[in-house]
Amino acid sequence: MGVSALVNIGTIVSGDIHEPLCRGNTLIVVDGKIAAVGGEELLKEYGPTQVFDVHGATVTPGLIDSHVHPVLGDFTPRQKTLDYLDSSLHGGVTTMISAGEPHTPGRPRDPAGTKALAILAHKSFKNFRPGGMKIHGGAVILEKGLTEKDFAEMAAEGVWLVGEVGLGSVKTPQEAVPMVAWAKKYGMKVAVHSGGTSIPGSSAMTAAMVMSIGPTVVSHTNGGPTALAPAEIDALIEQTSLPLEIVQCGNLKAADYIARRLQERNQLDRIIIGNDSPSGSGIIPLGILRTITQLAALSGIEPARAVAMATGNTAAVYGLPTSLIAPGREADLVVMDAPIGSVGQDALGAMAAGDLPGIAMVMIDGEVRVWVSRNTPPPVRQVKVST
Ligand SMILES: [Zn+2]
Repeated sequence: MGVSALVNIGTIVSGDIHEPLCRGNTLIVVDGKIAAVGGEELLKEYGPTQVFDVHGATVTPGLIDSHVHPVLGDFTPRQKTLDYLDSSLHGGVTTMISAGEPHTPGRPRDPAGTKALAILAHKSFKNFRPGGMKIHGGAVILEKGLTEKDFAEMAAEGVWLVGEVGLGSVKTPQEAVPMVAWAKKYGMKVAVHSGGTSIPGSSAMTAAMVMSIGPTVVSHTNGGPTALAPAEIDALIEQTSLPLEIVQCGNLKAADYIARRLQERNQLDRIIIGNDSPSGSGIIPLGILRTITQLAALSGIEPARAVAMATGNTAAVYGLPTSLIAPGREADLVVMDAPIGSVGQDALGAMAAGDLPGIAMVMIDGEVRVWVSRNTPPPVRQVKVST
């Protein structure tokens, strides 16, 4: 693939919540990975064969949607929609993490079928990458009857995610705790539903239940779509150090509450952002951008830190080698800018004003996958490539 460079970058958003901006205006990509970030002197050092002039626009890491409910392929039976994954790529999402595949038609509930579905979805999405997206599918849903041997077998086949606990027939902490322990023993990351019931068949999950289950991450702490009461959210904030997910298809007021409370406590590294779609709320290809913008415009979060909540924070929680602008990371990058007509002067200014930024380019593993987005409004500044 060789060496390429992004030059004339106005702002580089790192994805690191503690240091959300990088110094410099030049980014070097070698063989699909970020090699260096800095000034123009890097061009001499690396001699890129392909140069992307971004004309002062902003570069951010590729966004991660921490909460998707796929099935197989780029189709969802939940809203009978094709190409929704590809549509999210046009919203800057380069990585998606399954929170379970509950919409699979005729989803089996027995241990053998449950296990088979997780393995199939995991392996299918390893091979199937719409637009190059990294979709981590095959999040096993906890059903009664699963044994330690089942978790060992799934892990050996590559399954590393447990979908939201509460979606399946395992609904109480007593039933979930031994399975969560097996899952963690075999290296899996565990999500748990929180708040009210989302669809008939899933269950309300209180803060105390979440705490006794002991997941890796609390799914949609702002509701999926019905939020926990503020006192319950406080309990999760104060009595645990768990990552707390905020989703687009949740409760707006609760999202604001969580962001403000964690900002007061200097714990913004605990927030990750997901869509929780496809769901009853629909499919929102710009959902991650919308949530970032909502937090920046209405909840007093510095825009670059809001971006970190959907990039570096999530990568850290899930141990993914992407979505942080630093040497060695996979070159999943988004070039964005203020949209035409915005009062914002650049991407971050647009977010602060409540406008969705316009996407000028999306790169995955150093390869351009989207030029000007078909879903965002058009960006003021565009990218020119020379070879
Ligand atoms: Zn849920």
